Amino acid sequence: MAPHTGDEEAYNPVTWEPSIAFVKYAIWAILVSSVLVSLTMYHMVPTMKDRASWTVPMVLVALAGWYLLRRGNLQAAIGVLAIGMWACVAAMVILGGGLSAPAHYIFPLIIFMMGWLVSTKAAVVTAGLTSGLTIAVIMMGERGTLPESPVSPPALQGLIQICVFVTSTVLVHSLVRAYKKRLMEVHATNIGFAQRTRDLEIAKAELHQAQAQAKVGSWIYTVATDTMQLSDEACRIFGQPIGTTLNRETYLELSPPEDREALQINWRNASESQSIFEDEHRVLVNGAIFWVRQRAEFELARDGSITRVFGIAQDINERKLAELSLRQSEKKFATAFQSSPVAASIATLQEGRFVEANDKYERDFGWARDELIGRTTGDINLWPSPDVREQWAVALQAHGSIVDYETTWIHKNGERRSVSISGEIIDYASTPCILAYITDITERKAAEEQIQSLAFFDSLTSLPNRRLLMNRLEQALASTHRDQRHGGLLFIDLDNFKTLNDSHGHNKGDLLLKQVADRLSACVREGDTVSRLGGDEFVVMLNGLSEDPLLAASQAEMVAEKILVKLNQSYDFIDFQYHNTPSIGVTLFGEQDESLDEPLRRADVAMYQAKAAGRNSIRFYDPQMQAAVSARMQLETDLANAVRQNQFLLLYQPQVNATGCVTGAEVLVRWQHPQRGMVSPAEFIPAAEETGLILPLGAWILETACSQLASWADQPAFEPLNIAVNVSARQFQQVDFVPQVLAALERTNANPKRLKLELTESMLIDNVSAVIEKMTALKEHGVGFSLDDFGTGYSSLSYLKQLPLDQLKIDQSFVRDVLTDTNDAAIARMVIVLAESLGLTVIAEGVETIAQQELLLSQGCQNFQGYLISRPVVVGLFEDFVKSRA
Ligand code: C2E
Ligand code: CA
Ligand code: CA
Repeated sequence: MAPHTGDEEAYNPVTWEPSIAFVKYAIWAILVSSVLVSLTMYHMVPTMKDRASWTVPMVLVALAGWYLLRRGNLQAAIGVLAIGMWACVAAMVILGGGLSAPAHYIFPLIIFMMGWLVSTKAAVVTAGLTSGLTIAVIMMGERGTLPESPVSPPALQGLIQICVFVTSTVLVHSLVRAYKKRLMEVHATNIGFAQRTRDLEIAKAELHQAQAQAKVGSWIYTVATDTMQLSDEACRIFGQPIGTTLNRETYLELSPPEDREALQINWRNASESQSIFEDEHRVLVNGAIFWVRQRAEFELARDGSITRVFGIAQDINERKLAELSLRQSEKKFATAFQSSPVAASIATLQEGRFVEANDKYERDFGWARDELIGRTTGDINLWPSPDVREQWAVALQAHGSIVDYETTWIHKNGERRSVSISGEIIDYASTPCILAYITDITERKAAEEQIQSLAFFDSLTSLPNRRLLMNRLEQALASTHRDQRHGGLLFIDLDNFKTLNDSHGHNKGDLLLKQVADRLSACVREGDTVSRLGGDEFVVMLNGLSEDPLLAASQAEMVAEKILVKLNQSYDFIDFQYHNTPSIGVTLFGEQDESLDEPLRRADVAMYQAKAAGRNSIRFYDPQMQAAVSARMQLETDLANAVRQNQFLLLYQPQVNATGCVTGAEVLVRWQHPQRGMVSPAEFIPAAEETGLILPLGAWILETACSQLASWADQPAFEPLNIAVNVSARQFQQVDFVPQVLAALERTNANPKRLKLELTESMLIDNVSAVIEKMTALKEHGVGFSLDDFGTGYSSLSYLKQLPLDQLKIDQSFVRDVLTDTNDAAIARMVIVLAESLGLTVIAEGVETIAQQELLLSQGCQNFQGYLISRPVVVGLFEDFVKSRA
């Protein structure tokens, strides 16, 4: 595990701070009451003048407690206060002539309890009442109206006293329980954090083990604090005690003095070009030299400055010493070669034919020396492909030697191993050969990958950091492009975060950021990404939004809205409630090919617009999008208003039979908008469905239709008319839909047999059995059902048969082209035949011409509705129409 930086130190909100405050209050209370009691005794009660000084020891005890508290010794302060006060009271009891008025001792405890468990106000009121009572008792005593009390024997007084103490103990016990419970609640909200901490601990342990095995340590250098935190293995490699923290200077001092300048130059070059730092250098441990290989990456702030450096340190001492000893003398060569701790070989430069190999080859790659000599690397399939060896050999020739060339080798057993090869061209028996030392770095690689993963998460909130966000954004851009869907990017910046940090300290700031992270994560779906860029900036990436940009915008808007509401709820910081607001910038991506930074920049700009708009708001980058979303929001507010102010009107569109006789009407709702005039349902029904406003609206439509039926009931000309009411999916899916309809019928006293509900196919697919149950229940009361827009959905014949329907309604799209399009004509015919075979009636809607009606009639359709007969009209005109057709 890479060492932690200081800022993520677990903040434990379960502190004893409230106790410190409590002890302070207690001290004040003792001081003030002692002084008051003394003054009162001295000035007002002549018989007690001499006792006025008895409170002096109490004052001293309080001062001693104060002193200890100032020294930070809370435990001692509480001890001194408790024992001191006990002793003072004990002395008073003895000096004051025994046990008197013991019941009074319970008052302070009750006041204290009110204060703790109810509120400070409750404590003040109780204290006031107690004081009033005391004054009353004194006055009654003065006037002699106090009932005469017999002097009780000391034994009885003692007994009462003991009862008081027992009661006090029970009260204290309940207080402590209540306090502990409160702590538990606070603690529970931090469990999530604790769980993450535990997960991190486990990962840490695994990483330690991996590092020790691979002899690779890791470290993180934080620029701001000039601290370099080393992992356990890094400590070992640098010869430092576990847990050591270095800084720039102490780090440099690890190297022998003559190496320091070169090391420093290397670092400077890497940090200036912000490229990866790589170096092999020496460290001096207790006078001995060790070789270390280092590799580090820089973490950059938004302004491009370096904030942290993540590095790994590898112990390469064995390999280095082997290399060095090899060079030291020709004579030592053979022994060094054989005793090298890593696999070593000599092979011809041209073909890669083995001339010599040590026994570590067998250990690491499964090949014994005898199997190797005389064969080429190609013969044994060592390299992933001959090309790779070829390139390596060419590069070697050009440079003479290559250190730490990383590639994959194939073990004799077929397993792939990561290796690091240091090669050098030598002249061996007058042939140009490659002398190679090969280290198996498979474990080290795995450890490196794990270290890398740490560089992807924000240590404070455990959310993905900018780097991981960019990775995911890259993938998302590719996939949105592939499947045409949109993605959304929400840039969230907390308003006035700096003020909190400045006024309440960084601990509180960190606590807020963690809670914000939790709330954000709760607002999104699984595939979405919540990340923290740094500071108080968060970015949420939404995937899989609609293909339609406006719909996608409103989906993103909905999430942003949810976040806005969530982050507006106050934060509980134990000692105070904190309120904060966010500014949210939104943009979509996936519309066109664009660079990785582009969407983030747009979301950032939009966020600044949200700030400029007065904070605590949401802004879209694209003005068109903003306009569409605003219009949609306007529609929703207007609609909510309209429901309250009853701006709706029902129109009636006649339905006639084959002889032209009116059998009833379909009611169609209209919105009389005060500014926009008549608004079509096609425009507002979808919005009403989404917002749930369809529920009150639908209830109103149903109720109005039923009232109309009831008022026709006693007019013979209108009594037989049916009214068809459109029911939207959301309405029908309510659990209490059936009782609602029945209640409307009952309230208005309408005949259920005259009511027909129009359902659409799409709402019948889910949970067929529940649908059937509802329909059957209403059917039992006589309510009829028509299947609207039939033919446009995906009705399966098998369940169509199970539904207790009365009518199929041929959708107007088929009627429109029934004369010209043979497909539409065929579908219309099919619906008619189907209805016949299921024993249902059939009605064609949208009939506009006589020709259409005649064709449908010739095919067996008996009922019609459409402009040919009449447009939807107000009820008065509809009644006139009925009369004219009678
Ligand atoms: P729908 O249920 O399919 O209603 C039929 C639509 O076709 C109505 O449009 C009607 O005015 C129109 N129409 C009738 N005859 C003709 C014709 O000959 N030619 C043409 N081109 N159109 C004709 P409207 O009133 O605009 O309603 C549109 C949709 O809004 C309705 O489609 C229905 O889905 C929904 N809707 C209307 N009123 C209500 C309501 O009270 N409750 C619910 N839940 N939805 C409603
Ligand atoms: Ca309809
Ligand atoms: Ca329809």
